[in-house]
Amino acid sequence: MIQINQPLTQHEHGWHVESRHGTTMGTVLYVRCSCGARRVDLQGPGEPAPSGISATIES
Ligand SMILES: [Zn+2]
Repeated sequence: MIQINQPLTQHEHGWHVESRHGTTMGTVLYVRCSCGARRVDLQGPGEPAPSGISATIES
């Protein structure tokens, strides 16, 4: 019997912003995916897109 393990968490996370906070470093974004995973992003001044500053936290 062959079992193929494909974790459900392996998908392209679709982040949406739960809350944002302005800091001297830029805007800190708390984002969540519909699968329950969470991450903290930081969008520095002048940066076109936020980048993750925490590891993805799977639910
Ligand atoms: Zn996800």
